Amino acid sequence: MSAQSFDMVVIGAGPGGYVAAIRGAQLGLKVAVVEREHMGGICLNWGCIPTKALLRSAEVFHLMNRAAEFGLSVSGTGFDIDAVVKRSRGVAKQLNAGVGHLMKKNKVTVVMGEARLTGPGKVSVKTAKGSQELTAANVVLATGARARELPGLEADGDLVWTYKHALTPPRMPKKLLVIGSGAIGIEFASFFNTLGADTTVVEVMDRILPVEDAEISAMAKKQFEKQGMTIREKAMVKQLDRGKGTVTAHIEQGGKVTTSTFDAVISAVGIVGNVEGLGLEELGVKVDRTHVVTDAHCRTGVAGLYAIGDVAGAPWLAHKASHEGVMVAELIAGQSPHPVRPDSIAGCTYCHPQVASVGLTEAKARDTGRDIRVGRFPFVGNGKAIALGEAEGMVKTVFDAATGELLGAHMIGAEVTELIQGYVVGRQLETTEEDLMHTVFPHPTLSEMMHESVLDAWDRAIHF
Ligand SMILES: Cc1cc2nc3c(=O)[nH]c(=O)nc-3n(C[C@H](O)[C@H](O)[C@H](O)COP(=O)(O)OP(=O)(O)OC[C@H]3O[C@@H](n4cnc5c(N)ncnc54)[C@H](O)[C@@H]3O)c2cc1C
Repeated sequence: MSAQSFDMVVIGAGPGGYVAAIRGAQLGLKVAVVEREHMGGICLNWGCIPTKALLRSAEVFHLMNRAAEFGLSVSGTGFDIDAVVKRSRGVAKQLNAGVGHLMKKNKVTVVMGEARLTGPGKVSVKTAKGSQELTAANVVLATGARARELPGLEADGDLVWTYKHALTPPRMPKKLLVIGSGAIGIEFASFFNTLGADTTVVEVMDRILPVEDAEISAMAKKQFEKQGMTIREKAMVKQLDRGKGTVTAHIEQGGKVTTSTFDAVISAVGIVGNVEGLGLEELGVKVDRTHVVTDAHCRTGVAGLYAIGDVAGAPWLAHKASHEGVMVAELIAGQSPHPVRPDSIAGCTYCHPQVASVGLTEAKARDTGRDIRVGRFPFVGNGKAIALGEAEGMVKTVFDAATGELLGAHMIGAEVTELIQGYVVGRQLETTEEDLMHTVFPHPTLSEMMHESVLDAWDRAIHF
């Protein structure tokens, strides 16, 4: 069969790939997207969305157990883990179908199968019906990533889980070990702990959520411990002995190895890029530690070949992948888009309490040698937070003292994953402290804390 020809072929239909395809089609390009497993990629099927559905169940459960505080009575609170998981899978399925609909609406050709580059602009797809050849002047690699597995700590789906197993767990764990305290590890720890699992988190770095501001990490630790979690920092799981229904973990901390027994382990020790089997070596594409090396415009160095999203490296976030997808499609269509600014990509962790941040931490801002000003505002000083029964948390802002540039913002507490975007817009518009101080924030809202934190950086906070 002769090859089908396109202006742009996208490999992978995650939030990077399918968004690139839609933007390309909007700009008049003839686009095909190749997907080997599921439309929507990890994000919709095994990442962002199903985890948020699980966490919502945990949040409702938590609130049900606090009903009396609000003058309400609820008796016999409980949960059915299978029903909780079923809801999460249903949400993922609904969105997965939505992506298929968007492809149709935008007249993007979808080819289901495993793609491989066979030459510049040549893609061979192994489909259920045989091989299909595609050609295009531009090919976008959006193949994403998968869970990293450490030797000896490999998942088996029964006692040791990756995020995929944890999303459809074989049972509700009684005693859970989570290895790794990045966003993925902490979200699962928060979910299972809220539902009553005796949860231990082991982190090799000196604090949990290690990419966050140190003050936020410390507050998160305090809150999690208050909720009954055990947090072990500067600790390493050296060995897992799998028995009948239990795993014994050998954990090294402070030069000593101790053992603890669990009935489930979640390994959340990072991800590796899907770079294998794509024909990258033959084309001379540079790969560094499982990620395709690109320039700021996601160009790989091979003419007409781009890489976006998780396969192109950190930050491993869906919105980064999508934004790169839009940028690359516009570049291919002859426009001159700005590269994505990594320091303006917010990171959110949907644990309880939530954590969100953008830009430089206080320590990193100090490392730049600039004179900085730091503002803080606690949730306990905010009327809406108290009315919600969510008086624990903080909004922290970091400014360049000389120019008033907002260098970073760091938050912990209720709904901060929704609030952070206010500061992201501010950074995008190159807002200074003056603009933020003169902005009127509606009352009563949690967003007022964003105003107060800015005021506090100049010793002008009103309500604290
Ligand atoms: C548990 C979990 C929770 C997460 N939560 C969040 C969150 O709250 N917010 C957030 O921003 N990010 C979150 N992420 C990260 C987010 O899912 C990823 O950053 C995002 O999915 C990356 O998008 P992508 O398009 O680069 O790749 P992916 O979503 O991984 O999609 C890549 C697609 O390419 C396909 N593919 C790969 N190789 C081939 C091939 N050879 N041929 C054809 N198809 C191929 C794959 O099947 C896949 O569908 C989470 C991740 C996990 C695991």
